[in-house]
Amino acid sequence: MSRKPATRTRPAKTAATPVSGVTVRHYCQGIGDCHLLTFKKADGKPFRMLIDCGIHVSIAGGPALVADIVADLKKETGGKIDILVVTHEHWDHVSGFLTAKDLFKDFVVGDVWMAWTENPADAEAAELDKFKGQAIAALQGVGQKLDAMQGLSAYMAGVRDGLQSVLGFQFGAAGERVRSARDAAARLSQKPSPTYFEPGEPPVTIDALPNLRVYVLGPPRDKAALRLEERASEMFPLASGGPYARALTSGLKINEAIDAGYVDELSPFERNVGTPLSAALKGDKGSDPAIDIAAFVRKHYSGPVSAAASMEDRDQSWRRIDADWMGIAADLALQLDRGVNNTSLVLAFELTDSGRVLLFPGDAQIGNWLSWKDLTWPVGQGTVTSADLLARTVYLKVAHHGSQNATPQKQGFDLLTSADLSAFIPTNKVDALKVHWGEMPYDGILTALETKTKGRVIRADDPWLADKDGKPGFAAPSGSIQAVRSAPRDAGRGPGGLWVEVDLA
Ligand SMILES: [Zn+2]
Repeated sequence: MSRKPATRTRPAKTAATPVSGVTVRHYCQGIGDCHLLTFKKADGKPFRMLIDCGIHVSIAGGPALVADIVADLKKETGGKIDILVVTHEHWDHVSGFLTAKDLFKDFVVGDVWMAWTENPADAEAAELDKFKGQAIAALQGVGQKLDAMQGLSAYMAGVRDGLQSVLGFQFGAAGERVRSARDAAARLSQKPSPTYFEPGEPPVTIDALPNLRVYVLGPPRDKAALRLEERASEMFPLASGGPYARALTSGLKINEAIDAGYVDELSPFERNVGTPLSAALKGDKGSDPAIDIAAFVRKHYSGPVSAAASMEDRDQSWRRIDADWMGIAADLALQLDRGVNNTSLVLAFELTDSGRVLLFPGDAQIGNWLSWKDLTWPVGQGTVTSADLLARTVYLKVAHHGSQNATPQKQGFDLLTSADLSAFIPTNKVDALKVHWGEMPYDGILTALETKTKGRVIRADDPWLADKDGKPGFAAPSGSIQAVRSAPRDAGRGPGGLWVEVDLA
């Protein structure tokens, strides 16, 4: 018995259901990723794939903006997401699953896709996880110490700000852990656990979408690639800016297992025979009445005694290394940040009827990109290589908000050779400055992309997105781009667009 409705109303053709190909709706929260891909199934119904949903902790009003985004997602999809992709465990990619969990609980999510690095049953993932846990604990300890210290040197103030930036990818404003947000995303799945992917497996096919193949390019298994140092020859030339990146890279090597509370623990003396430096500098005489330790310390290690003092009695603070030893945390912070970005699940979507490819690299940094070089997939009678996928890429979600170290030149940018290339950068430059993560987006990459795409670069803070009648600076249709639409944010959510979407075929 068929159960046909008595009357059939023709479903309204929603803007997000293209005749063929895919519609990509990018939300424009500034620093953070949330992309809705709408494919069309054989029966004409939409197939929804959501990639990430987060905003960086430094952006004021972030959770409210993400709530608007999730409300829009609900309106657009009816709360039905076929596949949710979580690229990596950083707050600006997953915060929404926690801060807007009450809105997400009404969603039906068919499956959650994650990288092998998130799989608790994977031994190598567990090892990486241990490193992450230790590094975060150490950096938190050092961060709290530096926050509480007065009169830091310019260098250590730079390290402190750099740590805040790195920790901003790990925690929410109320101290929520990024792990809780990632796990909240995993729990949305109707399946008992997420599906984990790794490169080297056959392309993923989806029954409902016969014209789509999904290639997994990263994250690599190779530990060296995950934590790879930046290679100068693979990077766009450094700009004069980026003092935080410079401050961090000049840090010393640190033991991965550094313990946050180490200063007092390693003291060779009993606590009751010492005088804390801060107390001595304030004038406390210490435990031995026979020695005026405070006078000694102030004379030899303190700031200005008086303007009339002889040269050697003046500012002696240069003799102290109160905080400088903590500079070693800078290198650990970089390792952690790069390591987590390099765990990004990198997906290339091939529209098999046109051969065109959309590349979503998450926040993959250099090591992840370089690892794609040797990947091949047998498809039909032939072999698909990563270089082939890059050459056919017509649409790029720019990695890591366009930072300088997340799009290698020779093994990445130069391989994107399609004359039809367009790109989206999930970055708001004003907010990026508050993140203190060097230059995002990096001018060198921005200029090169503008040239290569003939201006078909959309950025989350493009002024035309704030205007409900705004139009991009390039003409559509243009090759693969069939149409571009956008919607401004609600009043009270700051200037700018809520989303921009492109129809690609
Ligand atoms: Zn990010």
